[in-house]
Amino acid sequence: MKALINIDYTHDFIADKGALTVGKPGQAIEGEIVRLTREFADAGDFVVFAVDVHDAGDQLHPETALFPPHNIRGTEGRGLYGELGELYEQIKDRPNVYFMDKTRYSAFVGTDLDLKLRERGITEVHLVGDVTDICVLHTAVYAYSLNYKIVVHKEAVASFDPVGHEWALNHFRNCLGATVI
Ligand code: ZN
Repeated sequence: MKALINIDYTHDFIADKGALTVGKPGQAIEGEIVRLTREFADAGDFVVFAVDVHDAGDQLHPETALFPPHNIRGTEGRGLYGELGELYEQIKDRPNVYFMDKTRYSAFVGTDLDLKLRERGITEVHLVGDVTDICVLHTAVYAYSLNYKIVVHKEAVASFDPVGHEWALNHFRNCLGATVI
């Protein structure tokens, strides 16, 4: 059993005026991330939207010192971007679609994602979204540590840092045993 994990494909991370935007590389993966999401959803596979949430002015959060405010709870910036947002509206009530908040880079930290996967007998996670070398990377590292098989769809992940992007793709392959397709 496998699951698709959609990471942080929101206005703030993708739109030209997003608060912490990946910009063009992020917009360039829109077609592929939508295609894969539809394919997994229609096949009855588990589709997870793991989406960053922060509270305005949270001085206790480590990202506050590192990044401008982004994906603030209740703001439009936190909405899923473009066609993925439209697709989500169509599929969100299906039993195999799960939207979950995350507050750290990894979708496994402080969430019930591992439990949701295990109760469905899922052993393989497919990762798409952004940022390749931040939230996708940290989610992949935790998945590896939890013994999941990992597939990263390289045409459906993006970063604002081309060097970090390439480094992360190599790390997925060489250190996490991931299939990068
Ligand atoms: Zn964040």
